Amino acid sequence: MITRDAFGRLASGLCPDCDAELRTVEISPRVTVAQIMHDDTCPWLAHQNRTTKENNR
Ligand SMILES: [Zn+2]
Repeated sequence: MITRDAFGRLASGLCPDCDAELRTVEISPRVTVAQIMHDDTCPWLAHQNRTTKENNR
């Protein structure tokens, strides 16, 4: 199990380009996934979105 404290330490180095946050999302009972939430203006996120679109073509 990852403790809340460990999440805090992880979250401090998530993204070099923005103040990304780590959120836990419960997708079903007893199944929780961690998602990195980037700022809307994050250049890294913009790059990822571009790459995803190109791959879907
Ligand atoms: Zn970011």
